[in-house]
Amino acid sequence: MIYLDNNATTKVLPEVRDEMIKYLTENYGNPSSKYYKLASDSKNAVEYAREKVSELFGCDTDEVIFTSGASESNNFIIKGIADIQEKNKRHIITSKIEHASVLETMKYLEKKGFHVTYLDVTKDGTIDLKQLTDAITQETFLVSVMWVNNELGSINDIKSIADICRKKNLFLHVDATQAVGKIDVTMPNGVSFLSMSAHKIYGPKGVGVAIVKKDQFGLPNRITPLIHGGEQENNYRAGTQCVHNIVGLGKACEIVLRDFEKNQEILKNHEKFLVGILNRKLKDNIVYNSPCQDLKVPGVINFQIKGVKNVIFLKKISSQIAASSGSACSITHPSYTLKAIGLSDEEIAQSIRFSLSPYEDIKELEEIL
Ligand code: PMP
Repeated sequence: MIYLDNNATTKVLPEVRDEMIKYLTENYGNPSSKYYKLASDSKNAVEYAREKVSELFGCDTDEVIFTSGASESNNFIIKGIADIQEKNKRHIITSKIEHASVLETMKYLEKKGFHVTYLDVTKDGTIDLKQLTDAITQETFLVSVMWVNNELGSINDIKSIADICRKKNLFLHVDATQAVGKIDVTMPNGVSFLSMSAHKIYGPKGVGVAIVKKDQFGLPNRITPLIHGGEQENNYRAGTQCVHNIVGLGKACEIVLRDFEKNQEILKNHEKFLVGILNRKLKDNIVYNSPCQDLKVPGVINFQIKGVKNVIFLKKISSQIAASSGSACSITHPSYTLKAIGLSDEEIAQSIRFSLSPYEDIKELEEIL
């Protein structure tokens, strides 16, 4: 079985698993307990993981909040910042191709009286900077956009978006879930919040990060806590920390930084190999939905096989290849992302996403496809 659905989730690396097991068995102390080593060992492990996250994103350790994953981080950040706005700040800008956890949160806020602009995207699946600038009003307080799109792999110009937001004194939330491990994710100046999930980077499921920058526009930035209670996670998310998951996330971030260059090279080579096979075997029947290489991350290819329904193709290869037609979170609807880049329903029904891993041997694809 060759696994080509790494944008849906990834396997836990052995190095990550080994670290996690220690904190499930021997080192089971509560990190908030005091006076004995079992507890301080757990606390140190959580804080070590926090350091690794802060190194990856280039933020301070007290800006890293551990959550259950990117969906939770997106909810927490967007609702948390909306909750503390003055009455005259009621407008948010996002895009039509954000993850469901952003779009559904926006719908919820609309019911609460906020106005949301859903920007169109270019045919490459990126935000047009002029459209973004034009959408800003006196009432706008937040821009929420993804760094890399989950279905297409397209990369938004976060540096330029951050420049626009900074100049206009707007908060900027970036969903970096699909960017980590694929591009440099050092937070540009002007990014106020960031979300990610460990299971997209060879860490465990059920843990992620919300980064909340503590100063914005020269003022302290304190959004509404997600869970009230104990003082864990800088008072933003009360409850005993899930130490083994946090340790796994920290290790996965450490590996992302350590192996970045090597993995980039492997992903690029894997993609070249796979595209070569697809072009040879499908000839004129293949159409690529993903943008060209410079505008997307390596290892994510969204394409159509003309005249072939994706469901039929994916079921046919399913004993040898695990792949998908798009986002695992919106599987019951035709992809709104592919619709937004201008594809017809028929083209969407032919579309397939292969998302590669540097840790997966794909040589046998030559025979399988
Ligand atoms: N944002 C993006 C861009 C994603 O791809 C995903 C995962 N599909 C999420 C958020 C949500 O991540 P999780 O399911 O781990 O909460």
